[in-house]
Amino acid sequence: MRPRIVILATGGTIAGLGQPGKDTGYQSGSLPVEALTKGNPKLAEVADIRAEQVCNLNSDDITSEIWIELANRINALAEEPDTAGFVVTHGTDTLEETAYFLNLAVKTEKPVVVTGAMRPATADAPDGPANLLKAVEVASSAANRGKGVLVAFAGAVVPARAAVKRHTAALDAVASDGTEALAATRLHTSGTEFDISGLKTLPKVSVLYFATDADPALAKYAADRSDGIVIAGAGAGEFSIAWRNVIEKCKVPVVVSSRTGCGPVLQETMCHGAIAAGTLQPAKAAVLLRLALTRTRDTKEIIRIFNTY
Ligand code: ASP
Repeated sequence: MRPRIVILATGGTIAGLGQPGKDTGYQSGSLPVEALTKGNPKLAEVADIRAEQVCNLNSDDITSEIWIELANRINALAEEPDTAGFVVTHGTDTLEETAYFLNLAVKTEKPVVVTGAMRPATADAPDGPANLLKAVEVASSAANRGKGVLVAFAGAVVPARAAVKRHTAALDAVASDGTEALAATRLHTSGTEFDISGLKTLPKVSVLYFATDADPALAKYAADRSDGIVIAGAGAGEFSIAWRNVIEKCKVPVVVSSRTGCGPVLQETMCHGAIAAGTLQPAKAAVLLRLALTRTRDTKEIIRIFNTY
């Protein structure tokens, strides 16, 4: 018996439509999920495929409302004994954020695998069909139960916490940031304290990028309009004295990550009141802070949450 896999489609380049044979200049999030499955007959050899369209967007237009809808749908379908696992198709730009959110919010041991593509479905050699097939294979394997949300891309399988888009164009743009071993030790899915079932949206968190001479008024502006902020600091999470003076007076939680894309930011190096993102890159630190803010505004508690997930 083939396992039943539900594909939840959200759009992206994998569903992109453009001029036949062209890799660029296409419309992301255009084709319906049926076009992705019908054009990929090998899927049915691996699994009994069910497909649902959650939305059909360029992933830069994905919102926390859609994250919550997606997680609730997975949680509901996971209750059905016949469903063995899930594949989420997604644009690559923000794939890592949705994958990490699901890793923290879904409540199932069944495999949840996120994938996408760098070339539209109408390209001469689209990468979407192979990525989708791999994702269905990974989701079909009972060995992948209880591993948290996984990202299948360009032949690699990476835990959601470690997956990043690290190139604008390469076929293996979505890959590991090198923290896979750490990701394997962190709590996920049924093991987390987050319950999104009654939520419509997540608290607002703004992400700010520090650079030489960056105006500290930006940090104040963002803090005044948000429930929390994340700073992509320089180096190991640093910024100017002018920024520090603003950040130490912020009334909302401030999480500090690094713009380097690799390596930890440590709590012991933080200025007054700031919270270290550890190895989480800025966009993922914002996902965790948004979920943390659904439970607490207390700095010590948020530090604990960043040490846990
Ligand atoms: N802009 C596209 C998206 O994120 C890129 C992609 O899917 O590769 O939807």
